[in-house]
Amino acid sequence: MRLELKLALIGAISKIVIFILLFILMQQVIDNQAVKHTDRDLIKMKDKTLSIVEKIGINSFLNIERDSVYASYNMLKDEYISIDIDPSKNGEKLVFSNEAREIEDEEFDFRILNYRFEINNQHYVLEIGKSVQLINSLNKMIKNISISIILLVLLITILVDIGINKYLLTPLNKMILGKLKTITDPETFDFSDLTSSTSDFVSLNNALNELMHKVSESLKNQQRFTANVSHELFTPISVMQSKLENLLLSNDLPEHFITDILEQQEHLNRLQQIIKALLLIARIENDQFAKDETLNLRELIEEIILNIEDRAQMRNITIENAIPAGLIVGKVNKSLVYILLFNLISNAIKYNKDNGEIKVSCFNNGPNFNIEITDSGIGIEQDQIPKIFDRFKRADPLTGEGYGLGLSIVKSIVLFHQGSIDVRSELGVGTTFKVQFALTDVNVSHLS
Ligand code: ADP
Repeated sequence: MRLELKLALIGAISKIVIFILLFILMQQVIDNQAVKHTDRDLIKMKDKTLSIVEKIGINSFLNIERDSVYASYNMLKDEYISIDIDPSKNGEKLVFSNEAREIEDEEFDFRILNYRFEINNQHYVLEIGKSVQLINSLNKMIKNISISIILLVLLITILVDIGINKYLLTPLNKMILGKLKTITDPETFDFSDLTSSTSDFVSLNNALNELMHKVSESLKNQQRFTANVSHELFTPISVMQSKLENLLLSNDLPEHFITDILEQQEHLNRLQQIIKALLLIARIENDQFAKDETLNLRELIEEIILNIEDRAQMRNITIENAIPAGLIVGKVNKSLVYILLFNLISNAIKYNKDNGEIKVSCFNNGPNFNIEITDSGIGIEQDQIPKIFDRFKRADPLTGEGYGLGLSIVKSIVLFHQGSIDVRSELGVGTTFKVQFALTDVNVSHLS
């Protein structure tokens, strides 16, 4: 999972947890406040009622001789006021309670204020009620508004977090996508400095640049070493070979000598092939070839098939050249592309079955030009595929002849043209090598 997504997820989850706790706490606070607010309202109503009683006299509300009770409620029956004579004459002065009251044969739940007072030595009780249903509906409305506000704030903070994370991680993404993902060769590595206010990213970028400088330097040393050693070995081996050839020309050589010399010649030949291959790789990696030639791809394949036909015919293997006529590929080195395709077709014969098939085709795929060599051969085990391009690596060292350098040469030629190579293989079914070039790196056109 990407760091950016991980941070956004962790941020969102922690915020959701905090907001849920906040929501639970708010419910209790709202419930509490609603009761307190209602009680304050009831006290105000009590004070107002008492001041009216004081102004117009208690007798306007009650007829004491007839023992009557004053009671008033509003149209929706969610508020009522009653005044009565207090028979107990004592008890608490001001009491709040939640009780049910019957109004016109209907029962309602009320928050009730009970107040006892005295006028002219007569004790009265004032009762004011507010419908609990009314308080609850107000409560519900406040809770709904608070949920909406919490959700909105949650969404905004999550979005802001995602934006901030994206902004902060931009230099890291730039480094990973721009530098590390496109890295094919330390030589072409992007050594540019990173401009960021986050010093950790700048340090990371500097460390990466330094590391790549070291890798590039040691790779160059290795290439120089291989080139020098191969070059130094090549001359004495050639001299030894011509000396052995001269020896073979002498007439009075005993039979066992001739066999020995032929054996030594074979060893030297093998050594010479290896040195030639190593020298070629070193020269390609040291950019000692031009890349400004054009070639007719179909004709090049025809030429390779002509040179390799004998080997294919010996095992009744057919090679299909499916490259369209007149396809011209430019900005390449012709000899190197020849070696590249020769090695792949040669392997397709070497690792094929008797009566097998080989097909060479090409196609455009978006911004890329692909050449595919498919065979119906023995296939390669999946765990071996990443290793076959390594020098001296052979998937099965016990079978066939070869030095394990053919695919190393192929890879260095592909990289020399800024391309890439892929392998798909199934054991016993066959193998496809796909060489891919960007159309910006090679020119592909058709002869009209
Ligand atoms: P080699 O000289 O052994 O052919 P390469 O570098 O050309 O060396 O190939 C490396 C190994 O990759 C080979 O030994 C072989 O096991 C495997 N290989 C290459 N091409 C094919 C193919 N077309 N089918 C199956 N295996 C292959």
